[in-house]
Amino acid sequence: MDSKYFSFKMFRYAIKLRETKNYEEAIKLYDIIIKTDPKRKYEALIKKSRIVFKINKNPKEALNLLIEAEKIQPLHFYALLEKALIYQSLKNTLKYSLTLEEAKLNNMLKEDISQMLKILKEDPDGFIIESYENYLYKKLKDREYYNKNQEELCRKTRDYRKNNLASVKIKDKIRQERNKENRRIKEKERRKQLWKEAINFFGSCAKCEETRREFLEIDHINGGGSKKRRLKKELAGVNLLAKFKRLNWPEYLKKEYRILCHNCNSLENPKKDLKIWQEALEFFGPCECCKTSNINVLCVDHIKGNGTKRRKTEGNGAVLLKRIKKLGWPEEIKEEYRLLCQNCNQSLGYNKYCPHQKDKIHEKEDTEIK
Ligand SMILES: [Zn+2]
Ligand SMILES: [Zn+2]
Ligand SMILES: [Zn+2]
Repeated sequence: MDSKYFSFKMFRYAIKLRETKNYEEAIKLYDIIIKTDPKRKYEALIKKSRIVFKINKNPKEALNLLIEAEKIQPLHFYALLEKALIYQSLKNTLKYSLTLEEAKLNNMLKEDISQMLKILKEDPDGFIIESYENYLYKKLKDREYYNKNQEELCRKTRDYRKNNLASVKIKDKIRQERNKENRRIKEKERRKQLWKEAINFFGSCAKCEETRREFLEIDHINGGGSKKRRLKKELAGVNLLAKFKRLNWPEYLKKEYRILCHNCNSLENPKKDLKIWQEALEFFGPCECCKTSNINVLCVDHIKGNGTKRRKTEGNGAVLLKRIKKLGWPEEIKEEYRLLCQNCNQSLGYNKYCPHQKDKIHEKEDTEIK
């Protein structure tokens, strides 16, 4: 008999044995398959582990079988899930979280695990209910089907999108919203890491040695040139850093770029209309956050946000201040505008916080602890 067909028959027979609770015989069949049919070894190991775990109540041996199975197909969701199931039933949360960590490596697994946990909650003894087995089996089949028909399925998806653009867009948006938070966290981590590497490479602010990355920016040493500025805009901030990282931080970058804090950078372009700014300083007071009173680093901040939009209609900086002056510096305008230094303003804009405030909170905590 063809050995392929033979082990297929044995699988069928093993199922029957299981159904009639003839577990010992079923295990013997699986053992034969494990020894003789490398193509079906993985499946047989999993099935055997299930009996060993459920019926023989020997989770350790079951785990060993699964680990052997994973050697054949590493990180395959089938074995991982079974493993997770065993851990869960052992109520060993530590071990279980290890499994989840493995699962994280394979994104697809997350959903399966949560589905599994749901079922487990209703099935606290850790028995795998039949419908769940079917669910797993279907998943496996789905994946096989996908791999086989990838091209056609992709084409179908493309066509569907074309024909249902409106509803697809809505669905995309919902999904986007869901992923937004995750992406935000990832992006934050990426920024943090890139800036860490950048500060390592370039050092702190070339002028005042500021080291808090929230205040720092990349400066073109040779400055100027609208062309360069346009380029800088294209590769603003972290994207420029990402480019440097791709180049593996070559030394020659230090000839062209340096790190400056926003304040030091703005000192490079002193204000022309000092008089109106002096008046504004007297009226508003210094940077509301850090109390800096150096006119050349101050800017007008729209307290209620929407700065970019309003700047267009209300004018910016000196123009705006002159308009306020025309109104006779009314007190209530302080509810709408304030002065901030570039460092505090940009950090509040990008990060929604200023490190100064964090320092203050820490100081407060420190004194409270004392
Ligand atoms: Zn500086
Ligand atoms: Zn400030
Ligand atoms: Zn500040």
